Amino acid sequence: MVQLGSISEIVSADEDVLEALSTYILDDGIVAFPTETVYGLGGFASSSKAILSIFRLKGRPATNPLIVHLSSLTKVEDVALLHGSRAENRMERLASRIDPLIPGPLTLVLPARPDSTAPEVRAGGPTIAIRVPRHPIAQAFLKRVAVPIAAPSANRSTHISPTRPRHVLEEFPDAGIPILDGGDCQIGLESTVIDITCDEPTVLRPGFITQEMLQDVLEERVTMAAGHLKHSSTIPVPARSPGQMSRHYSPRTPLYRPEQLSTLLSRPLKIGWVCFSARDAENTNLPQNPPALLRILSPQGDINEAAYHLYSTLRELDNQNLDAIVVDHIPELGVGKAILDRLGRAQAR
Ligand code: AMP
Ligand code: MG
Repeated sequence: MVQLGSISEIVSADEDVLEALSTYILDDGIVAFPTETVYGLGGFASSSKAILSIFRLKGRPATNPLIVHLSSLTKVEDVALLHGSRAENRMERLASRIDPLIPGPLTLVLPARPDSTAPEVRAGGPTIAIRVPRHPIAQAFLKRVAVPIAAPSANRSTHISPTRPRHVLEEFPDAGIPILDGGDCQIGLESTVIDITCDEPTVLRPGFITQEMLQDVLEERVTMAAGHLKHSSTIPVPARSPGQMSRHYSPRTPLYRPEQLSTLLSRPLKIGWVCFSARDAENTNLPQNPPALLRILSPQGDINEAAYHLYSTLRELDNQNLDAIVVDHIPELGVGKAILDRLGRAQAR
């Protein structure tokens, strides 16, 4: 049995640990677990007590609903109302390809089955967000607990999402949270969130699964919700709706675009400078006095590798007592759109 104390602790997902954690979570305990996107802070979705602990731990506004995690879609109707609806039809398409998008880094917003989950999970609304993660340890954990687990990312509200167990520990050192070790998250950015209840399926949060991939599988037009942000030199003002909070994913150190720097350089600043590729780094005039700390997201210029390194790089630079972090040009290809969305929010004040 694992001993659960007052200090958060990283634990390996062996049989005894999974058994202990499943008892613990059914008893309203909170467990951090890995997924292919980022680490989640999980609680029993039917327990208001557990869900309120998650909101309290994160300092998350009660208006921002949580994603419910399932080990497969077989029990989705326990939490969602589908019976023959177009949402069901779309869900089946997304899950039934040879290379399906579910399980995977995709969250579906569906009509909620009333009273099946604590209302706080849905922020009191009529819809519910569900995801089936693909990560083997997330799968083992969800199969073992065998109930829906509500889980936002395992970071304090507005901070950078954790992609390693150590990041969760940094966010909640004294909360007594067991953290299931799954190593580094392979994708490193939060799931794509798509609302499939509307006339036109709508991406509420861009991610690894792109609008184009969704259109291909659904064979219909997929729109992007208004308010999705670009990393820009102006302070963006997004639409106010769930899942689209303006300030989010932020390091404590102020984040800038290169073109904003001229206004800052009236005094010598310690700067962390993030480039997409090695070639971009060669073509950049880095501040020399004092020399900027250069980080490259993907030496060869691979956008998926850049997404994988983004949060751990921002977190590492955030711990260096810098005056500013500059993120240089990121191409808008594939998951690049999601990277730019997160950087736009990380920049918002
Ligand atoms: P996080 O787990 O911290 O990455 O946040 C979960 C994301 O899913 C947030 O952006 C939520 O607003 C979004 N979300 C969860 N439930 C719903 C829902 N019922 N409708 C729309 N968005 C949702
Ligand atoms: Mg989050």
